[in-house]
Amino acid sequence: MAELHGQLEEHLRSLKLKAMLATYRSFSERAAKSKLSYEEYLALLLEEEVRARTDQTLQKKINQAKFPYVKPLESFDFSFQPDLPEKELLRLSSLEFLETKENLIFLGPPGVGKTHLAVSFGLKACMLKHRVLFVTARDLLDDLMLAVKQGALTGKLMSYSRLSLLVIDELGYVPVTKEQANVFFQLVSMRYEKGAMILTSNYGFEDWGQIFPDPVVASAILDRLVHHAKIFFIRGSSYRLKDKLKKAERRKTA
Ligand code: ADP
Ligand code: MG
Repeated sequence: MAELHGQLEEHLRSLKLKAMLATYRSFSERAAKSKLSYEEYLALLLEEEVRARTDQTLQKKINQAKFPYVKPLESFDFSFQPDLPEKELLRLSSLEFLETKENLIFLGPPGVGKTHLAVSFGLKACMLKHRVLFVTARDLLDDLMLAVKQGALTGKLMSYSRLSLLVIDELGYVPVTKEQANVFFQLVSMRYEKGAMILTSNYGFEDWGQIFPDPVVASAILDRLVHHAKIFFIRGSSYRLKDKLKKAERRKTA
């Protein structure tokens, strides 16, 4: 028996069937007890291997996406933002917009859930094995400017264009220089009708003139971003503040 186990384990190792290796013994005891057929036992083992690999692939995708936090759409409390069209957002979570290369834009003041929503769509995309990257506008622009300095902008833009979904968070938190606006325009043009993006900003479109120094570039960027986009204005109050207020209230009554 020991020899058989040795052989089995060697095969499982060489085929890199880690989950099966870890579970085959305990499963075989269970199988014997429950009088499973050979096929049922094999199915059980394979299921375990497939599940472990799916988890691994998803985790890898999530790590590569570099989300600031991982929260699913299911944890978004729509009742707190009654102006948001819940049904439409749930429909969008089927991710058709990735295929049609459309953009989602979330606009609103701090704390209303823009990043949470952006992350949760990114997460859904990871689950469907898409290549996703989450980046703040500031980091993105720094990265692009570094590439300009190194004479490697084309390659850099290509690498951004290969993603199925690019999430750009917090556009407008830091002012954009003329040079940055130009490379940002190149990026947006490159992804235009070729790849989906999610953008969040605390500025309404009418104020984008304040984000970008040159109104011509600003409107060229806006034009391409908005042409095929679903736009959501979140006007509600801050969720962060809500928690703070609740805690303060609890302290008061205590
Ligand atoms: P911002 O709009 O500034 O990007 P976030 O999306 O980061 O805000 O939200 C701030 C925090 O509040 C996060 O932890 C987020 O998960 C939570 N949050 C915001 N809105 C909601 C909501 N409607 N339901 C559940 N959590 C929310
Ligand atoms: Mg945010």
